[in-house]
Amino acid sequence: MYQELFARESIPVIIGTGITGMAISRTLSQKKIKHVAIGTPPHPSRPKLGESINGEGSLDLAELFPEFNQYYFPKKNIVFYTGKLVARCDLDTSKNSIFAAFFKLTGFKVFNHLFHVDRIGFDLTLFQSITQNEHCLFLERKVTDIVYDRDRDKISELVLDDGLKIRPSFVFDATNYVRLLPKKLEIPCYFSSEPQRIIFTHYRSPDSQLCCSDRPSQTESWSHSTNLLKLCQDLDGIKGMAWCIPLGDYVSVGMSISAEKYDLSDRDAIALLDRAYKRRGIDYRQYYTQETEIISVCNQYFKHERAGGTNWLLAGGTYSQVWFPTGSGVATSLYTARFADRFLTSPQKMCQQYEHFMSQFWPSHNVHDRIISSDIESFTSQKMYHWTDSLLTTTVLRICTYAQSRNHKLGGLFAKFIKFLMESKIVKIEFFCKILESNLEQQTEEIHTERSTYL
Ligand SMILES: Cc1cc2nc3c(=O)[nH]c(=O)nc-3n(C[C@H](O)[C@H](O)[C@H](O)COP(=O)(O)OP(=O)(O)OC[C@H]3O[C@@H](n4cnc5c(N)ncnc54)[C@H](O)[C@@H]3O)c2cc1C
Repeated sequence: MYQELFARESIPVIIGTGITGMAISRTLSQKKIKHVAIGTPPHPSRPKLGESINGEGSLDLAELFPEFNQYYFPKKNIVFYTGKLVARCDLDTSKNSIFAAFFKLTGFKVFNHLFHVDRIGFDLTLFQSITQNEHCLFLERKVTDIVYDRDRDKISELVLDDGLKIRPSFVFDATNYVRLLPKKLEIPCYFSSEPQRIIFTHYRSPDSQLCCSDRPSQTESWSHSTNLLKLCQDLDGIKGMAWCIPLGDYVSVGMSISAEKYDLSDRDAIALLDRAYKRRGIDYRQYYTQETEIISVCNQYFKHERAGGTNWLLAGGTYSQVWFPTGSGVATSLYTARFADRFLTSPQKMCQQYEHFMSQFWPSHNVHDRIISSDIESFTSQKMYHWTDSLLTTTVLRICTYAQSRNHKLGGLFAKFIKFLMESKIVKIEFFCKILESNLEQQTEEIHTERSTYL
């Protein structure tokens, strides 16, 4: 049956049905463009990465997937624990009239805060919706080979694991760290971090179902924050970068450590992580007693020389990946999804625009790289203010670029103006985050208390 279809016409193909591939499929279906999506259905309960979403990603989720509201949880701030010093960056736009005005004037829908996303529930529902659409032909297969015409920079054929051959009109590679096309096409790749071992899991409240999340039954001060922690050898017994993301009736925790330095088991690593958060007043095990699978993967951050060719695109994390505390992975997926139909009609122009957008994540990556590679003893409040202000500045500049590439004419002009003011340093972000110094066990309580004395 498929053989006949593929012999008759050549249509766009998406390789990989993670969030990137699924979001692209959804746009193509909405535009009534017939396409093939090749991959596997989402796992019904396994923890996933990509749960704390940055500014652009949250704006896009609210706009592109409004009916998925039940999977969104408020991310009102980011708290960053670094030894004696702890920083809080408020992202609750409903409490900040400048932020609210900025989003409105740059053409975004007004929204109140960023999101944490229950990716298990979100991905399962999205998968159902895309595969039920008449414009999408889902094949539960793997692409095993690619026929590439180097002279024309064009993919002429995809070969699947069952021998089926497809002549695609366009290929979206959404295989993420597998990097299927770039490896086959030999696109140069530049790595920008040491190899990392990522260990992560979910803890669930006692009566929680494994498939999805309900609204939270209790609210701790930290339950609306992305809680980042710089793990320190002397204090925590391990060096690395960790996260704790509350998601209703479960909490997502994990860490990124050097892939070469430690040979401890995943379970022992997670035990160190639990103790590190408890030491700082985040005792998630008290509420979330149910253990789930612990997952361990290897990862490294990178960028390819180019994002696309005559009839192909490296979508989201397949093209480039930056340090995870930027919370940018899902945003890069949604960018390619938003413009999926335009990549088909103007590949060259859209590819340039996309490469420019993606390049704007690198200043944030570099700041995080400095934070992660610096010794905690060298941290001062001045450095922390400098880093957090730089992160926020690059975020606002990126959102301005994004606003310009969308269709809002007035919004785009306003964004251009703000960008000019910031790049020429007429307008600066200074001392935006709150930073305090305190004993570890008091840090969580104090950083969420408005009365605290900040540095
Ligand atoms: C430690 C860490 C923390 C992160 N935290 C965040 C965060 O808080 N917020 C955020 O926005 N992002 C985060 N990210 C990034 C985020 O996880 C990714 O950007 C996102 O999950 C990528 O989704 P995807 O659909 O592109 O890839 P995936 O979910 O990996 O999907 C790729 C799919 O391609 C399929 N595939 C592979 N090869 C083939 C083939 N040959 N044929 C067919 N199918 C194939 C796979 O089976 C898979 O289903 C984090 C990343 C890391 C490493």
